[in-house]
Formats: sequence, structure tokens, C-alpha cells
Amino acid sequence: MTKFNDLNLDPKVLKAVAEAGYETPTPIQAGAIPAALEGRDVLGIAQTGTGKTASFTLPMITLLGRGRARARMPRSLVLCPTRELAAQVAENFDVYAKHTKLTKALLIGGVSFKDQDALIDRGVDVLIATPGRLLDHFERGKLLLTGVQIMVVDEADRMLDMGFIPDIERIFQLTPFTRQTLFFSATMAPEIERITNTFLQAPARVEVARQATTSENIKQGVVMFKASRKDREGTEKRRLLRAMIDQEGDTCTNAIIFCNRKTDVDITAKSLQKYGYNAAAIHGDLDQKQRMDTLDKFRTGELRFLCASDVAARGLDIPAVSHVFNYDVPSHAEDYVHRIGRTGRAGRKGSAIMICSPRDEKYFEAVEKLTQSAIPRLENPLAGLPVEEDSAPRQDKPKSSRSRSRGRKDRSEPRAEAAEVVAVQPQPVEVVTAPEPRPERTEHRHERNDQRRESSGPRHDRRRNDRHDQPIGWGDDAPSFIRLSFAERRAN
Ligand code: AMP
Repeated sequence: MTKFNDLNLDPKVLKAVAEAGYETPTPIQAGAIPAALEGRDVLGIAQTGTGKTASFTLPMITLLGRGRARARMPRSLVLCPTRELAAQVAENFDVYAKHTKLTKALLIGGVSFKDQDALIDRGVDVLIATPGRLLDHFERGKLLLTGVQIMVVDEADRMLDMGFIPDIERIFQLTPFTRQTLFFSATMAPEIERITNTFLQAPARVEVARQATTSENIKQGVVMFKASRKDREGTEKRRLLRAMIDQEGDTCTNAIIFCNRKTDVDITAKSLQKYGYNAAAIHGDLDQKQRMDTLDKFRTGELRFLCASDVAARGLDIPAVSHVFNYDVPSHAEDYVHRIGRTGRAGRKGSAIMICSPRDEKYFEAVEKLTQSAIPRLENPLAGLPVEEDSAPRQDKPKSSRSRSRGRKDRSEPRAEAAEVVAVQPQPVEVVTAPEPRPERTEHRHERNDQRRESSGPRHDRRRNDRHDQPIGWGDDAPSFIRLSFAERRAN
């Protein structure tokens, strides 16, 4: 079996690795580190939890050991899809580089440009960034990428999901052609394949067994749920979630609750809080400080329930999570594997329980197909109990008026959001070309196509002067009230 000592890593790195308590390299490390140290491009097909962060950080630190950073010209670049992952990579870097003098900067949203600029100005060896923020700095002229010798793309498949591929392509083009590229993705979608074919040169391909088969030590289950009434779906689903949590009792020391939509992440967290559960939300719309604080509280046990979106929780390394609740079935089957992989880590036991509504059934089938296992159907803990109104006050229904309460609820239910949109009144349109007062219906017809209305102005005037639009016998002198009533009749 390969040992870290066999890998030609810098002795300072080996010392840090030993202090971190690692004895043997994981398969992705054993595969990627030697190739990276030879200066080759690496294509790593591996998921989080496989030790892939160290598989690129350790050789980077070794390779960057010689040479010095120059102002505004980082020597290496690590691109991550989310702020949390970038922050996690930065933490890993600190651990593994602690016996070296290498410097790093973390460029992520939610942190002031000024502080980040100051670091870059001084010169950094490793720049860890999310793509958007990196390009912001670049466009402000604060950063040059022409000194990048090593570029890492982490979680490329997630970058694809988040629409970052054009940014990544642009960043590739801003770095020198001679750079070394270490590229990681859990899956090889065609778009990812295209990028790697374009930007990697004869990469060493290192693929580690997919985690698609879910860990043995995770107990899984699903509750099939159908609301008694469509308009009560959210309320009843949240009640079911509480019942599921309660049923787990003390075995549920803490849990991540995944929702597909950010609105549901917020609503679920607030609802749990109302009912006395120690819960908070984490998703991409919260500012960086809030997200970090919430995560810290969850890590330290101060917070018991973390309601999360996939993007925010992807790759988070929190060792002791007893439960994962899937409030929704994820629409990408692979997210199910990622989600439930947050529990049962490092040999611990874990539970992953999911709610499946009728509209999620197609996703559920995809999950079972991917994991090649039948997820046990659990009894609904509320089965047989009367469908009752919530007894606790509900935060998502103000008491003041019926119509307002419906408005608020609409925001909580994605289906109803559409209704809100439909209810939006058309903006009044200024009728530019009509010399006479016009019946409302005619205005509406024009409103539907502003473009046409504007470009058809002169023609429109002509039409109004057309004989067919005129009351017969008045020539051009018809009084406006007669023209108006004539136009109304025609419109009808
Ligand atoms: P990653 O896939 O990079 O998110 O790593 C997952 C977890 O594995 C992290 O908690 C690392 O600290 C840990 N880890 C990485 N490499 C090793 C190793 N060789 N031996 C034991 N644990 C490791």
C-alpha cells in the first residue's frame, strides 16, 4: 500500500500531514499526487469525502515551495463553486502549509474588496476564489493572472450546474498556456468533457469509485406524503417533518434538512424555530458572515438543525451529523448521494429520511435507479391522526386580512408564486400615436406588443384616416365624440 512518504512530497508537507493524523493516502491522493508532482495535468473524477482537497493541495504546496510571490500576480489559483467550499479549501491549505512560508488569499463574495486587494497587492502564492469574485477583481485591474503556474478547478460539475462554465473558460484564457491544470469533477457531463478536452493537455486521469452506492452505515427511509388539500401542502409537510424529527428522538443529535428551493429553506427554518426547534437556514442569498456564523454554530453543536440548499451544503465537511432529512426529493439524483453523505461520516452511523410528494415521484425513481437500491418506505408518523390545523402560531400567515394572508402564503408555495405573477396588473401604456381618445380595449390590444405599436405609428395614423374608420358622410370633419362612438362599435 502506498504511504505518504513514498509520494515525493516536501518534508514540511509530510510533517503537516502526519500532524493531521493521516496515515495512508486515499485512492485519489495516491493517484493524483505523483502525476501532479511530475508537472502533469490531472483530471480527477472524485467526489467530496474522498480526500480530493489534499490530492491537489499537497502537490501544490510542494511545487510552490521554491520561488516567491510577486505583487498582484498569484502563482497558483484554486477555483471553487461556492464560498463555503473555497473557505474550506483555504482552511485545508492552512493546515497543510503550516510549516512553509507560502501565503494565500481567499477571494469570495461577502468580504470587502479593500482587504482582499491589500493581500493581493502584497503578492500571494495561492489564490482561492469563486469564479465571479475573481473576475470582479480582474476587471477592476487589481489582479494579473499571467503568473499562474498551477490552476485547480474544484467541483467542475457543480460549476456547470451553477452556470459558471463561461467564467471558467474565460479564466482559463487569462492564465498562461503553459500552466499546469488540476481539474476535479464528480461526474463527466458532456460539457465538462468538452472543457477538459480544450484546456487540459494529456492529463493523467484518476477516477475513484463513485460514492453512488450509498454508505452501508447510513439507514435510509422515505415517507410517501400527499397533502389533504393542495393549499395546505406546505403546512402539512412541515408538520410531517416535525413528526419525523420527533420520532427519531434522542438519536437525532443534529441534522441537516435539505430543501430544493431557497424559499423553502427559509420557511422551514423559521417554521421549526416557531415550534421550538433550534434551527437556522443556510443558502446562497445569505451574506457570507451569516453563513459562516451559522455553520460554525452547527459545527460546534450550538445549533441542532441546519436547513440548507444543495449549493450551500455541498462538500461541507462536518464530521458528526446524525441525521439528514430530505424535505424534498432532489431533482438531480446525484444530489441525493451528496446530501445523505453528510451523515454517516468517518465510520459513524447515520440516518437519512426523505419526504416524497406525488410531484417528486419521478425524481424518487431516478434516485433509486442511481443508487441501485430500493429505499425503504416508512410509515407516515402522522398516519391515522386527524388532519388538524397547526396549533402553534404560523409565521407565514399574517392575521390581518384574508387577502393579505393569501399573498404571504403564495410566497411560501412555489406553485402559488405563479398565481402572484398572473395577478400583476399591466402597466398603463402611453398611447403616442392616437390623436383622439381611444376605447380601452383598443389600447390593450396595442399594449400586448409594444414593439409593434411603436414601429407602426405612421401606419396607424393612416389607418385612422382610412375611409373605413370614418363615420360615413362626415368627411374629415367628424366631431371627435362621433368618431369615438363609431370606433367603439367597431371594436365590439
Ligand atoms: P475532502 O474529500 O477533501 O473533502 O476530504 C474529506 C475528509 O477526509 C476531510 O475531513 C479530510 O481531512 C480527510 N482526509 C483527507 N485525506 C485523508 C487521509 N489521507 N487520511 C484520512 N483522512 C483524510
